[in-house]
Amino acid sequence: MADVSPNHQDTGDKRYLVRTYGCQMNEHDSERISGLLEADGYRATESVDDADVIVLNTCCIRENADNKLYGALGNLKVLKERNPDLQIMVGGCLAQKDRDAIQQRAGHVDVVFGTHNVHRATSLLARARIDGPITEIWEEAVLEEARAFPSALPVRRETDYAAWVTIQIGCDNSCAFCIVPSVRGTEISRQVVDIQTEVERLAAEGVTEVTLLGQNVNSYGRDLALAARQSGEDVRLRPMFAELLRSVGAVEGIRRVRYTSPHPKDMTPDVFDAMASTPSVVPHLHFPLQSGSDRVLAAMHRGYTADRYLQKLARARDTITDLAVTTDIIVGFPGETDDDFAATLEVAAAAEFDAAFTFVFSPREGTEAATMVEQFCDPEQVKDRYARLRTVIERSSLAKNQARVGAIEEVVVEGPSKKNPEVLTGRTAQNKLVHFASDPLKAGTYVTTRLVEAHTQYLMGELVEVTHQPRHRTRLAVTAV
Ligand code: SF4
Repeated sequence: MADVSPNHQDTGDKRYLVRTYGCQMNEHDSERISGLLEADGYRATESVDDADVIVLNTCCIRENADNKLYGALGNLKVLKERNPDLQIMVGGCLAQKDRDAIQQRAGHVDVVFGTHNVHRATSLLARARIDGPITEIWEEAVLEEARAFPSALPVRRETDYAAWVTIQIGCDNSCAFCIVPSVRGTEISRQVVDIQTEVERLAAEGVTEVTLLGQNVNSYGRDLALAARQSGEDVRLRPMFAELLRSVGAVEGIRRVRYTSPHPKDMTPDVFDAMASTPSVVPHLHFPLQSGSDRVLAAMHRGYTADRYLQKLARARDTITDLAVTTDIIVGFPGETDDDFAATLEVAAAAEFDAAFTFVFSPREGTEAATMVEQFCDPEQVKDRYARLRTVIERSSLAKNQARVGAIEEVVVEGPSKKNPEVLTGRTAQNKLVHFASDPLKAGTYVTTRLVEAHTQYLMGELVEVTHQPRHRTRLAVTAV
């Protein structure tokens, strides 16, 4: 069936609201959905009462995702009863997983779409207006469309000076706690030239910081090399992430290149070499450990041991000057014993992380770990372990921040501090949060600050000088006439 596009005359003064749950990948998908809606004449609103279209972009990784979604949908039902023209859309991982069940439980939802057909959001909206409620889930991305669509879709970015750039979708791993492979499909890398063109366009618009996004970024390009080999080219089968970092890092105007997330199993020294030799690639590595116990790592199917992890980390620190390292750790994975947890504490202390996202294990329906019910840990014990892990992490976070006191570092301004509007907040290249007193400066301004005081989560600084003014267009508030 041909796509039905919304009639712009119909949507001339219509408003939309996108609510995002979950990770950066979802936030970036939300930017695309917003971009598509704006291309169809919708304007953003912050208020559900004002919205003609409400999109819930869901995530099934976080705890209680279903409860949160159905709770939000319950609240929206009242609105829909008051305003039958309101259209409600549910997309993202939970939609991919639950499919028809969403409209069965919440009959007032107009459109359910998945992770592989984000680009069809507005077509589905228009069709639902004519045909009634629709659920459309694609089992997997259509290869050529998936490779092309991130660059082809309009995007409404949340910040003017920084942008996410998808380099790959899906994941070929099978970590026992993770639902991503079943809702995002197998790995598909975008072509280097498309990524390069997107970054050049962003730089021309005044963007100075890009974050390369993927579920397993350092295996980027393996599939491209394989496809090239299969079509008769004489290429080595290997990831191309290091080359990608170098080429994106060379784009004029891009001052900072970040990436998330890599997998320790697939991390190779050439990536560290590329980070070290490309000045715009920031000295920050997010390196998810998950557990320090080899037994638990094997049960998680992570594909590395604690020793191997620490060896790679040492290599990274030897290669990249002044590297900041952050991580993810899960406490209480099914079957985790006191000895396993002691190993995690030991590795966390040895790794001296700058910061860590620490999680208490909670089962996600559809994952292998959710079926290991008999091995679930005692919640009280897990709570105690979690607190002990936080103590170790916070000790190294504070020590790392204290070691920076006295240094002069460049910070990109994010905006006024939430607590005190006379204080600005920004980030260093190592992704450290810095607060400093200043007259108002636009987000995206680069300044140098002298770091004067360290805390666990942030540093206090003193403004030294402005080093770069933002070039991006400032968005003007749209007033009704
Ligand atoms: S690497 Fe593991 S944790 Fe990361 S997305 Fe893939 S399966 Fe999930």
